[in-house]
Amino acid sequence: MSDLTIETAPYLLGKFYSQFPQLDLEPIYKEGRPSPRDTRCVSCAKPIAAGAIMHTTDFLGDSFGDAAFLKPFSAQRGCLCTDCKIAIAFFPSTMQFSYAALGSDPEGTGKLVSYKVFGIDDYMAAVYNPLPAPFVLARKERKKQHMIWKARVNHHDVREEDLLFFTSGDTSLCAHPQRVLEVACKEQELLTQAAEIHSVGAKKKVRLLKEIVRLSAMKANLCAPTLVFNDYRALAYGIQDEALLSRLDEFCEVVRSFSSGDKHLFAHLRFLGTLKKTTDFKALIGSLKPREVDMQAIIYGKPPVEPGVGD
Ligand SMILES: [Zn+2]
Repeated sequence: MSDLTIETAPYLLGKFYSQFPQLDLEPIYKEGRPSPRDTRCVSCAKPIAAGAIMHTTDFLGDSFGDAAFLKPFSAQRGCLCTDCKIAIAFFPSTMQFSYAALGSDPEGTGKLVSYKVFGIDDYMAAVYNPLPAPFVLARKERKKQHMIWKARVNHHDVREEDLLFFTSGDTSLCAHPQRVLEVACKEQELLTQAAEIHSVGAKKKVRLLKEIVRLSAMKANLCAPTLVFNDYRALAYGIQDEALLSRLDEFCEVVRSFSSGDKHLFAHLRFLGTLKKTTDFKALIGSLKPREVDMQAIIYGKPPVEPGVGD
């Protein structure tokens, strides 16, 4: 079998770690043993030739949520390549790097860099400051963690194509970050227009319409948000302008056509707006700065601090 280089998340993580020789990966390497036969890694499908180093999955108990995933070829558990073993079993992988953005250095050094994706600020900062390809973005959900090894790699220019693959928990999603940002801004623009074109007396009513898509419904599950639209035709809001009503209809159609990933981003963006008390989403996004993963803390054992903002 040929040695195919598959730029999976575990491969990128392994490459990232190799930039820090102080990291103690030795124990993991030592656990490897020669494969008795030609096979493939159960995680990334990389070929493992007879005699090449492979890792068993014995370290994963039967309570491991993905037991079926470990047996893609037969009733027996398969094995892992070294990169996947490191991504699944090495302590920093299951902690700091289970929620991180990892990609090429924007400075063009050829190295890999990593941003933290702890809280919602970090998450949106990483989404709106995508690293050059190959780039992977994973965030944890309450019930599904330590999943970076499952994350799909963006091999394209995320910014240029406005298309982002990311992993939330163990779900892979695709989203259009710029489009979602435009839609969030459009919602505010329509609300402002609604107030502006109505007479002084009617403005009061119109101002009752504070949002078109209800954040309260999305907030119940930010990761798989439910879209509930306010009934802007209701008499209580007093909107009578037909042109505006059809613009509102068009807006709702666009939101309804969102992919799951777009809905996910939209809900997070709107929620972040509430946390930061702003509806100027472009300024908000501009104010978010990605934070690099603190490798010194990881290497020298300072415990990670999670601000725990948002979810
Ligand atoms: Zn693998």
